[in-house]
Amino acid sequence: MTLKSIRGTKDILPADSAIWQAAEEAIRRVMMAYNYQEIRTPIFEQTSLFSRSIGELTDIVSKEMYTFLDRSEESLTLRPEGTASVIRAYVQNNLGEQSPLSKLYYVGPMFRQERPQAGRLRQFHQFGVEALGSSSPQLDVEIMLIPLEVYRSLGIKETTLFINSVGCPNCRPIYKKKLVGELQKIVNKLSPESQARLQQNPLRVLDSKDERDQLATNDVPLMKDFLCSECAAHFDGVQSALGALKIPFLINGRLVRGLDYYTKTAFEITSTALGSQDALAGGGRYDLLVEELGGKPTPGVGFAAGMERLMMVLQKTGSVQTKQRVPAVFIIGLDEQSRSWAFVKATRLRSLGIPVELDYLGRSLKAQMREANRQEAVHVLVIGDSELKSGTARMKNMKTGTEQLIELEKIEDALRSA
Ligand code: AMP
Repeated sequence: MTLKSIRGTKDILPADSAIWQAAEEAIRRVMMAYNYQEIRTPIFEQTSLFSRSIGELTDIVSKEMYTFLDRSEESLTLRPEGTASVIRAYVQNNLGEQSPLSKLYYVGPMFRQERPQAGRLRQFHQFGVEALGSSSPQLDVEIMLIPLEVYRSLGIKETTLFINSVGCPNCRPIYKKKLVGELQKIVNKLSPESQARLQQNPLRVLDSKDERDQLATNDVPLMKDFLCSECAAHFDGVQSALGALKIPFLINGRLVRGLDYYTKTAFEITSTALGSQDALAGGGRYDLLVEELGGKPTPGVGFAAGMERLMMVLQKTGSVQTKQRVPAVFIIGLDEQSRSWAFVKATRLRSLGIPVELDYLGRSLKAQMREANRQEAVHVLVIGDSELKSGTARMKNMKTGTEQLIELEKIEDALRSA
């Protein structure tokens, strides 16, 4: 029996890793420009961390988590998202005491047992940030700018920014009650899934993809029209900060996001280059989460963006240049002694950071030349008995076909000037 990878997981093969690296480099460059520092948390945590923060009734917690009992019967979960772990680490390590505003970012795998489809995996990767310690609407906008800047720097143009406000514990319960009342009037027209959600998670009915729900809820009231004065002022602040930067955005009063911890701002960035799973990134403010997880009351805002979805857009639009990684020199040894010399020399050159390749398969001169060509080596150096005796050899530039006589002791100089 041949062993296969688990459904919904993917190998990132060498042919794809250059584009991943280019994307990760762009991400790190933008994080540096915005002054965010990397945090790496474990990929598994106590189950209660996620159920408490994301919400028992959300899709993620109620049906998608990879939860298991370890050998000491402790319930553990593979992280389905990054925020809960980052906040846990922030509280546990007293990061709030080290600086009044913590700006953290992460890149890594997340796990959700969803139905696999294009753009929806069971192990996928996210990059994201969490900024903890300020309730300024400008910071909400900074959080939106980071993924937008990553996409812009990778040449991705077709993105749309949607924003909304999901209110706070002052105004949301009043709205929720109103919404449930309205939904109850049209309950028969809703999809079975939305009917089930109506009591427990009524806001999610609004962002249902089911046409029946979309039609039926066309005229229901929206949270943005029920905001308390503080939430309304914050939402205005976000819009004017976006306006000051001339960032185009659309208000989507139905945007609620699938995690319970959001307060005030919620946003999503979509791409027309994606199919039905068109969200590239999503995020928002979560002013109560730090306290909920045992820390001092600390406002927070963040986003998470899918790496695989970013790759899908990059592959479609072909807008990223990847660095070609090829050997600067392929050293061919013609006999035992020359091979041994080549091995020592290659190690020395590599320690200087010069990419070198050798043959380890005992191939003929012709076969080694073919291999050097296949690997697109810039130079080929053929070493035999006479080269070792004379201390010189001909180094061929494979692109131009020109040859140059070099001193073996000075290969590094020759490579540097070639
Ligand atoms: P979320 O944590 O659900 O807000 O998701 C944030 C982003 O992560 C989404 O906009 C997607 O780009 C990506 N994402 C979420 N779930 C998956 C998944 N199952 N497979 C691939 N990407 C995902």
